[in-house]
Amino acid sequence: MYLEKLELLIDGVWRQGSTGAGEDLINPATAQTIARLPHASAADLDEALAASAKGFKVWKAMTAIQRFAVMDKAADLIEARKAEIARTLTMENGKPLAEALGEVQFSADVTRWYAEEGKRAYGRIVPARLPGVRQMVFKEPVGPVAGFAAWNFPASNVIRKIAGALGAGCSIIIKPAEETPGTAVAFGRCFQDAGLPAGVLNIVFGVPAEVSSHLLSSPIPRKVSLTGSTAVGKLLQKQAADTLKRCTMELGGHSPVIVHADANLEKTLDTVVAFKFRNAGQVCTSPTRFYVHESLYEPFIDGFATRTRRIRIGNGLDEGTQMGPMIAPRRLDVMDSFVADARAKGAEIVTGGERIGNQGYFYAPTLMKNVPDDALIMSEEPFGPLAPTTTFSTFDEVIERANSLPFGLASFVFTQNGTFAQKTEMALEAGMVGVNHMMVSTAETPFGGINESGYGSESGIEGLEAYLRTKFVTEI
Ligand code: NAD
Repeated sequence: MYLEKLELLIDGVWRQGSTGAGEDLINPATAQTIARLPHASAADLDEALAASAKGFKVWKAMTAIQRFAVMDKAADLIEARKAEIARTLTMENGKPLAEALGEVQFSADVTRWYAEEGKRAYGRIVPARLPGVRQMVFKEPVGPVAGFAAWNFPASNVIRKIAGALGAGCSIIIKPAEETPGTAVAFGRCFQDAGLPAGVLNIVFGVPAEVSSHLLSSPIPRKVSLTGSTAVGKLLQKQAADTLKRCTMELGGHSPVIVHADANLEKTLDTVVAFKFRNAGQVCTSPTRFYVHESLYEPFIDGFATRTRRIRIGNGLDEGTQMGPMIAPRRLDVMDSFVADARAKGAEIVTGGERIGNQGYFYAPTLMKNVPDDALIMSEEPFGPLAPTTTFSTFDEVIERANSLPFGLASFVFTQNGTFAQKTEMALEAGMVGVNHMMVSTAETPFGGINESGYGSESGIEGLEAYLRTKFVTEI
């Protein structure tokens, strides 16, 4: 049974939309409708905007220590309700329960980390040029925030925005993905129950383009934070321009993986196969293009195929499931077209390459061999369980190919030679580089991309900084 009652949160009140509009929520593992999601009308959004302006004044006026107390309590509640929230998350997103539990725990950690870091939003004193003058630099919250989040991490995409804004002293209106609303609603209840003042956190759903254009045309939000595709990032940045809102853009990626000739093959395979199919490949930092040194290619393919065939696919709620469904049926067609294009251009499908069953949106974990650089999957984000591989022979050649796309989110390199690792790290054009492992996301380290993968970071001290503005005061 789906556990969350889906409602909007506006000015501290849980309610339905004023027009009764809404949409069905589908469980991607069963294709069954599990709930009805209300949409916010234009009038509801205006109320949320006014509430966020009012909530900002209240929250900003509290001390960082007082804000910490509320957020710390909310983190405790997230942890205490972890089992139910994770179940909600799996039912709406499809990922295995163990992954959902990890994501909810991460969300409690992120909330605590930002709550703590908010106490350290230090300014500074700058020595003056004239006697008797005091020069002070203050950090202040930027203002009400409008946040938009993708469905692939229903908990962490949303909490990074809520906790980042709240930790800095900002209010926020968040529009989670309509595909995965319940996790955000559950978090909203944790913050409410922890004593968050009305209007500081508002949660709305609707027709995405209508919600974003309504919220962003208002002068009230002073900042936009999006986790989503590059196309939507460009659109929201244009909409934010008219009122000069600051932006953080966490966008799409196309991570290259370079496996050098001296890599530890077994450890590399264990790592890359697990990460490739995590969340059915629907991860922005998912390893996407595999460049394997030609001397290792055949054993790499054999080991990859063996591990891939062993993956247990099913409903994320079932014990032992390692990979769940894709989020929606339209994504199955996208996978099919990437596979057909690669095959037509000469790639070999070693395993997978097709939909599984006809109930729920499952696609087989797919390994492709000898994929040419001009196959679409080598330059467009697949966002699914497809692993295209190819060979390289020289360092300069592979760096040029790895850096050839407009994206720059995460890049990965596997080698046992420290000097070689450093040389590769420095040469890769990416916001994040993983060497011999792939865990690039923690509460305390900056997460973000460059070029068309976006700009600005979430988490780390940079994550808090993104919600702060600078005020210089000089006095005599
Ligand atoms: P999306 O861009 O379609 O949606 C993201 C958010 O924007 C959602 O809230 C959605 O409702 C909203 N949105 C969608 N269309 C909109 C429109 N026309 N106007 C205004 N808002 C709109 O992205 P998605 O398909 O849900 O998610 C997958 C993408 O997100 C991938 O490209 C993935 O790489 C990226 N992503 C990036 C990160 C990161 O941190 N860099 C993390 C997760 C996902």
